[in-house]
Amino acid sequence: LIELDRAHLVHPVASYRSHERTGVRVLKSAKGATVTDASGHTMIDGFAGLWCVNAGYGHDSIVEAAARQMHELPYATGYFGLGSEPAIRFAAELAERAPGDLNHVYFTLGGSDAVDSTIRFIRYYYNAQGRPEKDQFISVEQGYHGSSTVGAGLTALPAFHAGFGIPLDWQHKIPSHYSYRNPAGSEPAAIIAASVAALRAKVEELGAERVAAFYVEPIQGSGGVLVPPPGWMRAMRDLCRELDILFVADEVITGFGRTGPLFACTDEDIVPDLMTTAKGLTSGYVPMGAVFLSDRVYDTIADGAGTSAVGHGYTYSAHPVSAAVGLEVLRLYENGLLENGIKAGKRLMAGLQGLGDHPLVGDVRGRGMLAAIELVVDKVRKTPLPAAAEPSRRIFDRAWDNGLVIRAFGNGVLGYAPPLCCTEDEIDAIVERTRMTLDETLE
Ligand code: PMP
Repeated sequence: LIELDRAHLVHPVASYRSHERTGVRVLKSAKGATVTDASGHTMIDGFAGLWCVNAGYGHDSIVEAAARQMHELPYATGYFGLGSEPAIRFAAELAERAPGDLNHVYFTLGGSDAVDSTIRFIRYYYNAQGRPEKDQFISVEQGYHGSSTVGAGLTALPAFHAGFGIPLDWQHKIPSHYSYRNPAGSEPAAIIAASVAALRAKVEELGAERVAAFYVEPIQGSGGVLVPPPGWMRAMRDLCRELDILFVADEVITGFGRTGPLFACTDEDIVPDLMTTAKGLTSGYVPMGAVFLSDRVYDTIADGAGTSAVGHGYTYSAHPVSAAVGLEVLRLYENGLLENGIKAGKRLMAGLQGLGDHPLVGDVRGRGMLAAIELVVDKVRKTPLPAAAEPSRRIFDRAWDNGLVIRAFGNGVLGYAPPLCCTEDEIDAIVERTRMTLDETLE
């Protein structure tokens, strides 16, 4: 397999030769919160695949839901006014649970095309109002909004821009709320004030009549699990309303129990104008994303002269098998999974906080089952680990050998997003195996 992989399989987000050193690690099977590789080594998946297998692996009821749907109707397009029962039911169930008036659901294949779609919807929205000049978009540094060209332009991680002429000239950024190294200091009020001032200044610079929307992740995931101070989301949401720009919450990671509730926006009682989800939507068993549109946005588009509410789409939009899986996953969330995730999340945060006295640990942060520790070589000076990717990679490898899959971001940040079904013992093992791995790193 290693030979065949080297010869033929092109991996995402890896240098083409990066797996030459150890060879690819092939996963063979999985159950609950554990995964087993081709050599029989079993690990706890502390990252739920790629922050997505929220329900855990090997759920027969999910597999059966997919198989039933495949037998009955494996494919139906949403084009030409056609539809399928699972897609309609799933949209209705989601709308019922979404914050506020986010009553309209547009299914995509994943998160990147969900983000792309919001940009289209927003442009339709202003076009329908005769305000096509509102075409400038703002997002937050260290944010991640996907890998498609337009989504990657909103993404503020430069590695995703190289060579593609992005960000596009209508995509702008304000600094992150990242509190561990914030020039405004670590006080929540100061961080919120700095972000409010930055967005205000950016909108003034561009002209409010030209700014379409502001994008946030309730917790910045790929930027290193950066949790805004309490009140930050509320302040930004209110400012967007005041400045007459749409507020888009990208809940691709935070949605579906990752921080506790179904949607992290409800942690602060926020109702965005549009919201994107994916990952936990189908718990990674099949690909799917969903854009939620508020009544105001949808009705404007739908009624607007000369615009189409859904002027774009995909062959696999609203795929009936994905929708059937999503319906079953939603049932699981509400039959104990969310509740277990909330309990497990408290234990995870407490356990990781207990690592705070480790000489390598500079910062511990997170909410619910979404967490990170940031490693430093000098805790007082907050000196980052040397030479970006390599030490992180070694820590990832050691953790793997110790029976734990974590995400090692290149900047010395270790990310955690375990399945919500983790038992107390599994959470304790995640923390213990992390400590073991850090001790070995010190040696
Ligand atoms: N938005 C956010 C916040 C994400 O974390 C991701 C993926 N990590 C995306 C969008 C893109 O999702 P996908 O990889 O499914 O296209």
